Amino acid sequence: MTVLKENWIFAENDLQKNNPVTYQLITKMKQISHDPVVVILIEEIDAKLENELSEYGPDKIITIKDNDLADGDDLEITNALANLIDQKGTPNTLIFPATVVGRSIAPRLQARLRTGLTADCLDLKFEDDLLVQTKPSYGDNIMCEIVIPNHRPQMVTARPNVFSSEKKINPNLKIESISDLQWKKDDQLVIESHVLPVKTTKDIKQAKRVVALGRGSKTEPAINVANDLKNKLHATIGVTRPLTDLDEFNIDDQIGQSGQTIAPDLLVNLGISGAVQYTSGISNAKIIVSANTDANAQIFKYSDYFFVGNATEFAKALEAIL
Ligand SMILES: Cc1cc2nc3c(=O)[nH]c(=O)nc-3n(C[C@H](O)[C@H](O)[C@H](O)COP(=O)(O)OP(=O)(O)OC[C@H]3O[C@@H](n4cnc5c(N)ncnc54)[C@H](O)[C@@H]3O)c2cc1C
Repeated sequence: MTVLKENWIFAENDLQKNNPVTYQLITKMKQISHDPVVVILIEEIDAKLENELSEYGPDKIITIKDNDLADGDDLEITNALANLIDQKGTPNTLIFPATVVGRSIAPRLQARLRTGLTADCLDLKFEDDLLVQTKPSYGDNIMCEIVIPNHRPQMVTARPNVFSSEKKINPNLKIESISDLQWKKDDQLVIESHVLPVKTTKDIKQAKRVVALGRGSKTEPAINVANDLKNKLHATIGVTRPLTDLDEFNIDDQIGQSGQTIAPDLLVNLGISGAVQYTSGISNAKIIVSANTDANAQIFKYSDYFFVGNATEFAKALEAIL
């Protein structure tokens, strides 16, 4: 991997206009960086957005001129940036604005490049070539400084309007135009679902996949979403005791000490606290995934994967990606 002594900024533009946050990022990086500041601009073939960007004094602007890519989705832009880095070398840092666009592309690219990313920074400074990234943490109660010592590029999203912009002509500005960068969908990362169809059964004791509902998912909308997830997974619905009050569930669906003992390959617990009378019925489940709003819920102790938050939102998101 060739690491360039360059610091790159992704230039965001909306409807063929530069987003002013790019000017702010150029100004800030020019103030703190000893290495060249390079702006990466994706634009239509006839556009000239580099003219306005150049007024803020970057050392170099790489324009990727491509009408389709200028209108591309976040995965396509991620693909283009990964391929650009492949072609040019790895920059020391790569900064995105913490906008909707930047917050979507930056983590995708980070995963592709297997490096570090600090989101929503409020300040930046260099110690040699190490970028010290300041961001609020613990509900904005403390500011912490984060560094990425062992991986490159050091990736950051920085919030708009925390840095000011200042026009400053750079007489040494270089502009490079690229028109043949590969970014098409067929060479981008494809995440495939590993959920294979299995035979669905009504008998929870025989089920290979179980979506279990607890009191935290006892509403009609929550049950509907769980049913959608169940259908996607070819699973069977199970419940905790409080749900057997409802007309649609009975003791045959109840998991636990006074209900059924289950042994599925996959168990998804939605809004279940993890009382011992319930967990005694799930000890033979192979993979347990649980969602609960309470970070200290007992069920998490039994879980291979867990999500702290609304179980219905979790089930909806899981269903959507399967
Ligand atoms: C003799 C005896 C036998 C029993 N046998 C059984 C049995 O076989 N099976 C059984 O299940 N129970 C049994 N029980 C009852 C058991 O003790 C518990 O009361 C029951 O398991 C609790 O069910 P729950 O987890 O759904 O509800 P709760 O304990 O009320 O937990 C609800 C959970 O949902 C979470 N939550 C709330 N809203 C949300 C949301 N929007 N998103 C995500 N999470 C949310 C909460 O943080 C909480 O952790 C038995 C009890 C006795 C005394």
